[in-house]
Amino acid sequence: MHSQNRVAVITGAGSGIGRSASLQLASQGMKVVLVDYDAGLGEETLSLIKEKGGDGIFVQADVSQNRDVESFVKAALDTYGSIDVFFNNAGILGTPGLLADQSEEMFDRIIAVNLKGVFLGLKHVLKVMEQQQSGVIVNTSSAAGIESCPHLGVYAASKHGVVGLTRTAAVEYGPKGIRINAICPGGVVTNMTKGMDMNNPEQNGPARRPASPDEIANVVRFLASDEASYMNGAIIPVDGGLTS
Ligand code: NAD
Repeated sequence: MHSQNRVAVITGAGSGIGRSASLQLASQGMKVVLVDYDAGLGEETLSLIKEKGGDGIFVQADVSQNRDVESFVKAALDTYGSIDVFFNNAGILGTPGLLADQSEEMFDRIIAVNLKGVFLGLKHVLKVMEQQQSGVIVNTSSAAGIESCPHLGVYAASKHGVVGLTRTAAVEYGPKGIRINAICPGGVVTNMTKGMDMNNPEQNGPARRPASPDEIANVVRFLASDEASYMNGAIIPVDGGLTS
């Protein structure tokens, strides 16, 4: 299928990596369903896409709520009839601190968005793709999903969980024509990292600089394309060598 006829659903589409990926997928001619709980940011991404002649809709949703996930899946199907690409990307960082100082409320919210949200997206979109017998999913994990992340322990746990979901989904659904991979970015300059010291050379590893959102979205675009037809269950660092 040509990318022109494909439908892509992107969560966390209002900002950062999700916005870059939405713009890139739309510029390839895909119809995009933008999902974010911040309506202002989501509508802004949609305007940027429409200015460039792209086709899309915005759906306000909180990925941690089952009914919201059902509603954006339904909106995609009602509007465009299929979901060919799903970028399961929305996430939050939480407030940094040593593990013993992390609150229970913060733990619950990070796990609800970063892990349950990814699970709910997989659950509902895999059902659609199973019927289609085709589809590609990219989950956003993190460098913190493959190694320790001091002061962001709960975040690291949630992103390790995304790796477990990705590998299992790939094995369960690969035989049904669906590919599921995860990207593991290092530091990326987005709203999430605003106010953090992103130019600390040690934190950035061999690249000695953080990534732009486009440098991450490039990999998402590749994974979503037929060029990546033999990639399934891969956990892909996009971190300038940070975790090497
Ligand atoms: P960002 O804050 O710029 O964008 C995240 C978007 O997700 C925002 O528009 C926000 O409104 C939305 N969002 C948050 N919670 C949501 C919810 N419950 N429901 C719906 N939308 C929600 O952040 P980003 O840096 O682009 O992060 C995107 C993903 O990349 C996240 O999963 C993040 O953990 C991951 N990541 C980021 C970095 C980094 O350094 N920025 C590194 C590794 C992984």
